[in-house]
Amino acid sequence: MENKTVTVIGAGLAGSEAAYQLAMAGFQVNLYEMRPLIQTGAHTTDYFAELICSNSLGSNLPDRAAGVLKNELRRLGSLLMKIADEFELPAGGALAVDRDLFSGKVTRILSTHPNIKIFREEVKEIPSNPTIIASGPLTSSTLSQSISQITNSCNLFFYDAIAPIINYESINLDIAFRASRYQKDEEESGDYINCPFSKEEYDRFVFELTNAQRIELKNFESQINQGVKAGSDQYFEGCLPIEVLANRGEKSLAFGPLRPVGIWNPHGGKRPYAVLQLRQDNIAGTLYNMVGFQTNLKFSEQKRVFQMIPGLENATFARYGQMHRNTFIASPNLLLPTLQFNQRNDLFFAGQITGVEGYVGNIATGLLAGINMSRYLSGHKLLELPKQTMLGALVHYITHASMRDFQPMKANFGILPLINAKGKRERAKLYAQEAKKSLEIYLSEIFPELSL
Ligand SMILES: Cc1cc2nc3c(=O)[nH]c(=O)nc-3n(C[C@H](O)[C@H](O)[C@H](O)COP(=O)(O)OP(=O)(O)OC[C@H]3O[C@@H](n4cnc5c(N)ncnc54)[C@H](O)[C@@H]3O)c2cc1C
Repeated sequence: MENKTVTVIGAGLAGSEAAYQLAMAGFQVNLYEMRPLIQTGAHTTDYFAELICSNSLGSNLPDRAAGVLKNELRRLGSLLMKIADEFELPAGGALAVDRDLFSGKVTRILSTHPNIKIFREEVKEIPSNPTIIASGPLTSSTLSQSISQITNSCNLFFYDAIAPIINYESINLDIAFRASRYQKDEEESGDYINCPFSKEEYDRFVFELTNAQRIELKNFESQINQGVKAGSDQYFEGCLPIEVLANRGEKSLAFGPLRPVGIWNPHGGKRPYAVLQLRQDNIAGTLYNMVGFQTNLKFSEQKRVFQMIPGLENATFARYGQMHRNTFIASPNLLLPTLQFNQRNDLFFAGQITGVEGYVGNIATGLLAGINMSRYLSGHKLLELPKQTMLGALVHYITHASMRDFQPMKANFGILPLINAKGKRERAKLYAQEAKKSLEIYLSEIFPELSL
């Protein structure tokens, strides 16, 4: 057993996974989490690994980018993926989970692990012992200042938005209906509740949405430094508020989050002009998430405008949509592909603060930082996964991207080395096969102790 102690800052998705990997490797872990004493503004519980917005971890299909990353995590022994699989909810090809059961179990396992000591306090200074910083997009401001001191002011801010959650009992199922996209069997009940728009209803909705009142951003939130572009109007392009997207053109929602393809309305039997999908958010099935409806409208305006959606005229909201600060470092200037800070070998970064986007990407960098810290402390060569794997490609992107264009990056096939194939589907299959093969070769040839 090793007797070295590692500090992990933040028991979110990345920090929880990192702490577990280190503890299982025999290291003592001091895991610091500032909630519930200090809140982030977006988290609402004192659980570790809280899912702050959607309860979906993205596609679970083996030939989708997010699915490939999930399979890599399962292969590498991720605790959080195992628990996510355990509390899976019906969501078509996606992996949605019961958020409370998921985070509750992560909290229990870490809190009772003999090698993990929990400190419910804010870390203000970066410790001098081996440390993983996994404090997330809502890193406390004092710690942000310390990070900015050691990284020569490399923080920047932009926006993410969270979608509203609706109470199931308030949805009008005489208008809304259950179906999955491209559902083959009409008898099946379907995983989503769908709210169908006619063209007239859609036009009226888009007009009210684009003219509704928004919440003003606070000064500290609109600050961007380092000259890094943060997308349209300082929003992250992959997570645009629905009202900003609607402003781009009258059909942008009908071709985006409200696209009706593959959905037939059993009430009218024809294809709607646009469709809002509602995804189950808890095992009891009492809460539904408005898919793609992250927003910065005032709460009263969300109620007024979203109740115009067919089937939601009496909707009650368990949670309104909100927008939040998102902090990340200039990883291409600061991190090695092992996730080590390039000026201090025993300091690692993991999670959203590295510029990786999405729940699963954050779990993945936590896993890698945890494994690499344990290998570093035991004097072994650190993991640098092949670029053909999704995790290897993500880490390569954040550590090699040009700073001019650097933006948080989700798992996607565009960051893998190009494979030529006839169609998109065929190419996706080849990417998935190549990723799996590369990971197995890497594990068996370079790190046989990690191979099956
Ligand atoms: C508002 C919002 C909504 C999002 N919605 C989604 C979504 O729907 N889907 C998706 O895939 N991704 C989403 N993301 C992006 C991202 O996947 C999540 O933020 C994810 O939780 C990040 O994981 P993490 O481990 O890096 O950080 P977190 O999960 O936030 O964990 C960091 C932890 O560190 C703690 N902490 C911070 N500072 C300190 C300190 N000084 N001392 C001690 N503890 C500290 C925090 O309390 C927190 O628990 C969203 C992000 C934001 C901001």
